[in-house]
Amino acid sequence: MIITDTHTHLYSEAFDEDRDAMMQRALDAGVQRFFIPAIDSTYTQAMLDLESNYPKNVFLMMGLHPTHVKENYKEELALVEKWLTKRKFYAVGEIGIDLYWDKTFLKQQQEAFVYQIRLAKKHQLPIVIHCRESFDEIFEILEQEKGDDLFGIFHCFTGTLEQAHKALSYNMKLGIGGVATFKNGKIDQFLNQIDLKHIVLETDSPYLAPVPYRGKRNESAYVNQVLEKLFFIYDRPVEEIAEITTQNSVEVFGV
Ligand SMILES: [Zn+2]
Repeated sequence: MIITDTHTHLYSEAFDEDRDAMMQRALDAGVQRFFIPAIDSTYTQAMLDLESNYPKNVFLMMGLHPTHVKENYKEELALVEKWLTKRKFYAVGEIGIDLYWDKTFLKQQQEAFVYQIRLAKKHQLPIVIHCRESFDEIFEILEQEKGDDLFGIFHCFTGTLEQAHKALSYNMKLGIGGVATFKNGKIDQFLNQIDLKHIVLETDSPYLAPVPYRGKRNESAYVNQVLEKLFFIYDRPVEEIAEITTQNSVEVFGV
């Protein structure tokens, strides 16, 4: 059984003390594929180091995270573009719009999102979307950019059933993580109406730890708590859910 964590920040400072032990716990738990979203250029070296330590298991993305779209966003986007021409990445991510933390740079966030979507199309890569309190703004851009060359993952999907269908209509899979295990997470109420072929698993480590670890540091081994929750939601064997969601991740990332 191969389990895939499609969104995990394993290079985060939160793992500096025990990264190898944490990775081993994940591998022992059957999690063998880790897709690593970028944040900004300050993390690039740490991502490359992670990849060289776990070349068979770690797959890197490149992109500028919406909460890191600041005064210097043009320089950051130039670096994203440069890296994409320089070597192989498996997605452009994570990219999108975040209006929860700060609305100051909304215009720049929108511009950076469109710019990076077009980079993804140019390199025939999927996008990995970060959407926080910004469904309308994200859908507006997807509507404008949609097409056969646009596909990817709606990471940490927390919307309604209607928004889920809308995301699927833009060739997006839904990234399901710890929120599905939360009492007030809501998505567990309707997820069984979405076919498993549209679902990928994620942790978003070190954030959003699933129950019973909620509030603590998250790690990729805990993707098993998400898997267990999906077992209750879909009433299908865990092995089957792992297999289908891993196959979905292969479809998206091409590896
Ligand atoms: Zn993330």
